[in-house]
Amino acid sequence: MIPYGRQSLDQADIDAVMAVLQSDWLTQGPAIERFEQAMARRCQAGHAVAVCNATAALHIACLAAGLGPGDRLWTTPNTFLASANCGRYCGAQVDFVDIDPLTWNLDAVALAAKLEKAERNGTLPKVLVAVAFSGQSCDMREIARLSERYGFTVIEDASHAVGASYAGRPVGCGEFADMTVFSFHPVKIITSAEGGMVLTNRPELAQHLQRLRSHGMTRDAEQMSEPSHGPWYYQQVELGFNYRITDLQAALGLSQLNKLEGFIARRRELASRYNRLLNGLPLTLPGLQPEAESAWHLYVVRLRLDEISLDHRQVFEGLRAAGIGVNLHYIPVHLQPYYCDLGFAQGDYPQAERYYAEAISLPMFPSLSDEEQEYVVGQLQRLLEE
Ligand SMILES: *Cc1c(COP(=O)(O)O)cnc(C)c1O
Repeated sequence: MIPYGRQSLDQADIDAVMAVLQSDWLTQGPAIERFEQAMARRCQAGHAVAVCNATAALHIACLAAGLGPGDRLWTTPNTFLASANCGRYCGAQVDFVDIDPLTWNLDAVALAAKLEKAERNGTLPKVLVAVAFSGQSCDMREIARLSERYGFTVIEDASHAVGASYAGRPVGCGEFADMTVFSFHPVKIITSAEGGMVLTNRPELAQHLQRLRSHGMTRDAEQMSEPSHGPWYYQQVELGFNYRITDLQAALGLSQLNKLEGFIARRRELASRYNRLLNGLPLTLPGLQPEAESAWHLYVVRLRLDEISLDHRQVFEGLRAAGIGVNLHYIPVHLQPYYCDLGFAQGDYPQAERYYAEAISLPMFPSLSDEEQEYVVGQLQRLLEE
């Protein structure tokens, strides 16, 4: 089976992890800070805080933004559950903004209209989670403008977008978002097995994120309510978590980061080959927004169902039967039973629902060969012509 995504590991990655195993530190050692600093440098960000996964990163980013009960978080329905769940962890209400039919990202025009209405009703969000779907940022320039106008915090969920850029600068640089979250899950662009990170340019947010990742504890005298009792002393100044990443994971992430540019180059090459090979088939190909350079975590096509005889499920199953591990990103979050129980229903976000009825994620990962890709295209073509 050709999977839709897979990690690329080599001997250097294995050696990096082995070196940590043979060192004095398995967790909270020097590799974590090195990984953080290297990511901050690569992304031109002031601060980076590594945690155990991107879901935890989203959770503490929301808390650092001050999100709590009575507040609202908005995001896109076309995302992984975690982009919405982080709001629920904080006791906030979650609401969605429909997607742009071209890029399949949160639609900044729909956002502007919804904000205008929310201002009249007193239901403005405190946080917007702008997901860089498939590796391509949203219209971040417009989102940043709206955040100034309406006063919400922008968290870019760039779990798909390590190594991407926007407006000529790396995603994570903080020009258009208060905080940026990355995932290092094995299907993503680079991996630390499990791992996540928050990048920000605001020192007070970075300090808060560091405390939240480790029980709300501090050893910094300036953050304490009274003078230190001695060298052993620490204080818990708020409720935090154990969201730490291990040194083993950070060493793997750092080693992977050395290969990021090559991974991105191959993903871009595969994307342009798909664009060329699929041209002319009854498909809608990914729409690009001019300011964004995608990291191409996913390559999604939409079936033009009125031009083919098989239905969506038959094409999907036909590809699986041909040994191609296609997938579907994403089931609209608002249609999950948990969110339906909160009042959402079919029909709420028609663009995301229509997308879901047509989308298929094709294999996309750096070690996918040209021949494998041609096989995928050939099988897809066969099914579309059936
Ligand atoms: C993978 C993913 C997450 C969660 O990442 P983990 O590191 O697995 O917690 C969050 N948001 C999006 C958009 C993702 O794709």
